[in-house]
Amino acid sequence: AQASTSPRPLRIIALANQKGGVGKTTTAINLGTALAAIGERVLIIDLDPQGNASTGLGIDRRQRRLSTYDVLAGEAELRQAVLVTAVPRLSVAPSTMDLLGLEMAMASEADRAQRLRRVLAPLAREDVPEHERFTYVLIDCPPSLNLLTLNALAAADAVLVPLQCEFFALEGLSQLLRTVEQVKAALNPRLTIQGIVLTMFDPRNNLSTQVVADVREFMGDKVYETMIPRNVRVSEAPSHGKPVLLYDLKCAGSQAYLRLASEIIQREGRLPAAA
Ligand code: ADP
Ligand code: MG
Repeated sequence: AQASTSPRPLRIIALANQKGGVGKTTTAINLGTALAAIGERVLIIDLDPQGNASTGLGIDRRQRRLSTYDVLAGEAELRQAVLVTAVPRLSVAPSTMDLLGLEMAMASEADRAQRLRRVLAPLAREDVPEHERFTYVLIDCPPSLNLLTLNALAAADAVLVPLQCEFFALEGLSQLLRTVEQVKAALNPRLTIQGIVLTMFDPRNNLSTQVVADVREFMGDKVYETMIPRNVRVSEAPSHGKPVLLYDLKCAGSQAYLRLASEIIQREGRLPAAA
């Protein structure tokens, strides 16, 4: 067999769920950190005007001179907006409240849903030097099916859906899956479902356990075996500007995100990167 010299492929994953507070941002930060810890080179794109992914990675507002708004509006290059984080191999393109104005600013532009796709295209070019090459882009979407989320779905290879184990989880999921089908038909035929990750799971809560059973029955093996438990360390970490893996590596939340990262690369059939 011939030794392969081709670079590791770039995988673009949108973290989407139109419901707020289900763990999109927490999963972007901590899955990103876990993937970086096993040797992947990860870029988080913060597409939420709230900027929680940026804040949770320790990027304070004064550092966000250029943001995803400037990049999507065509006023800056992506690489000018990208900042390194305290986690080796993990970078972030931060957001600011400016993103709230994007929809209005682009109302008359025919390509407005394809902006992010075009911005990310150069990352996959073969002439990007090895040490600058990202292997994963994780897009943290806002809690709505708006123009920003459409941009993420149009740019992504796959959608990762964080789903909180609560009563209306499946209803919201059906709506999201319909949107994914629409985006597939209109904007991005290669879009797939990467998987569904159950978040804030509490084994002592009967409802939580019932929801898990229903989601697994409805979505089959699209649902990861790894569930992210409700864990206070996970919720404390952002106020320290750190991923939970840096804040408390041994806690149940950190360990779950490491397992999720390894389950994801295994399902993709990727070998772990040499860190
Ligand atoms: P979204 O981005 O979908 O709005 P977040 O990731 O911001 O959701 O999570 C919503 C809230 O729940 C945040 O305060 C976060 O710290 C908390 N949270 C998320 N995941 C967990 C978890 N596994 N255990 C405890 N709290 C969590
Ligand atoms: Mg969020």
